[in-house]
Amino acid sequence: MQRYQVTRNNPRDRSEFRNLSGVLSITLKTLSTKYGDKTDSYLHVGSGAEHLQILPNLAVIAKEINNLGLGRLAKTRWREIVGAGEYMAMPVVGGKPVIPGSSVKGNVRARMELSFIPKEGRVRSCLSVGGGMPSFGRHGKIWSKGLEYDRDFKCPPRGRFMVCLMCDIFGTKGLASLLEFSDFVGERVSLQPVSDGYGMKLMAAPPGSAFTGEISFRNLSESELGLVLFRGLAIGDDGVGKPVLLGRLKYRGKLGGKVFGRVKYQLNSLKLSTLSQPLSTLKPGETASGAMLQTVIKALIDSAEKEFNGEYYVADEVQPLGMA
Ligand SMILES: [Zn+2]
Repeated sequence: MQRYQVTRNNPRDRSEFRNLSGVLSITLKTLSTKYGDKTDSYLHVGSGAEHLQILPNLAVIAKEINNLGLGRLAKTRWREIVGAGEYMAMPVVGGKPVIPGSSVKGNVRARMELSFIPKEGRVRSCLSVGGGMPSFGRHGKIWSKGLEYDRDFKCPPRGRFMVCLMCDIFGTKGLASLLEFSDFVGERVSLQPVSDGYGMKLMAAPPGSAFTGEISFRNLSESELGLVLFRGLAIGDDGVGKPVLLGRLKYRGKLGGKVFGRVKYQLNSLKLSTLSQPLSTLKPGETASGAMLQTVIKALIDSAEKEFNGEYYVADEVQPLGMA
């Protein structure tokens, strides 16, 4: 099998501001027919420490132990007391469910890495994150085009600190990321229990849930920032994203008859740092929203399409699963 050479360069200087720096304000929404999407979707994202979770109603139970006879309590609430069959919660910060920034970053990075294909024998991404998944099953089916080309090796090669474009932007061992992801907070999201009746029980974000967060960027060119928007976040000229997959059960697709893992990103505003270069008609320190934001998004995406012409493809993540 032919191995394609990954295009690598010296990583850019992290200590100075060049090109574009600023903050993207993003909303991540679970699909909802109520808001015009083709399907209703739930979302569950793990904290990675589920076995350490504390029952959310522990305080209530403790209070009731003082008020009621223990015998009666044990009869009615024994499941909660022993934790039998408890629902897996999502991470909660300040009483609100959150999608950890690391989960969003992994999602965006994998999508960008997997979108690159070779041009003239060379390819931009070493698949350091996106290649960690099997090339069979639904992941393999969706990303078959990106996975079919073998790469020489993962960054950085021994002895030399040269990295591919993706490792330069997202960071790698010994190299800081140029993108920082905040946690995405569900301000008005109330988790609902979903169960398949056989033991898998999740507290999940229902259709139409909105999680807001920020992605700060530094030292990116227009085409690179455009790539983050239209390939990483699957956002179009209007700032609204196409349906993409995220979180638990995204490939299995359903639990207890409910669709899982279909979300879309939306860009609400773009703020340039005072240390940034201007972007289109947007000056350093200014924020673009509304019509101005659409102009800026279009300029960024046009720049990315021109710079990376023929080096990427756009996968439909939702269609191959047979559930729009
Ligand atoms: Zn790399």
